[in-house]
Amino acid sequence: MNSAENDYIRYLEPGFAPFDPLELAKRTEEIVCAGDRRKYTKFSCPRMYGGIATGYACGCCLRCTFCWVNWSRDFPEKYGTFRSAAEAFNELRRMARKRRVDQVRISGAEPTIGKSHLLAVLQKVEASPFRVFVLETNGILLGADADYARDIARFTKVHARVAIKAGTPEAFTDKTGARPEFFELPFRAIENLLRAGVSCHAAAMSADPRFMTEDERDRLLERLNSIHPDLARNLEEEIVSPYHNARERLQHAGIEVDWQQ
Ligand code: SF4
Repeated sequence: MNSAENDYIRYLEPGFAPFDPLELAKRTEEIVCAGDRRKYTKFSCPRMYGGIATGYACGCCLRCTFCWVNWSRDFPEKYGTFRSAAEAFNELRRMARKRRVDQVRISGAEPTIGKSHLLAVLQKVEASPFRVFVLETNGILLGADADYARDIARFTKVHARVAIKAGTPEAFTDKTGARPEFFELPFRAIENLLRAGVSCHAAAMSADPRFMTEDERDRLLERLNSIHPDLARNLEEEIVSPYHNARERLQHAGIEVDWQQ
């Protein structure tokens, strides 16, 4: 990274200046992508979804205070190794064979950063015996670009899980650091994906009253309901886990959380 390093936003601190997440996505892509190659920190096969081969990529366009991801999110220039789509796919296949699973995903970051890399991996998954690719996304880039959702719709094995961070624009800024006018993008991502014919569902930290009030949850459900009632009905409601990295980021942001609650 060059002199621009100083103004690359890392994590939130009290009084932070809200940012444009599309701009941050561009800046991050310049660091973590080179042609069809993208940086990864590791490949493994965690038990989630009943076992899923996972590539942990570097770099995100949000700065969630409760983010569990390691510090490659904040300092992507310092972490990871560039992998071509073929290399990433081979690693995913190796993990999947070892654990005898038929599902894959890219996690640990925002997988839609680096479009050519993601589409090249999806092409390989499409031609493989894998049953499903779970696209875990924050919806920022897919909400801003309907063509991207249409590109993903060319692949039949994708199921998208769109993480909605907040139920109001103000809460979106407080939690992610992004400016409130970008609050709608994850909802638009769902609209774009559904219109393009991609299977998807929404997830939120809405089961955790420490991170989402009842009123905010109601507004979130209303918004999802306005797109399709099944989205609200099938919302994956999570709680924030007290992972070390999440605790440190919350501390940096000056947010105290009672983990005993
Ligand atoms: S929680 Fe997800 S969307 Fe938020 S900063 Fe971490 S990786 Fe990005």
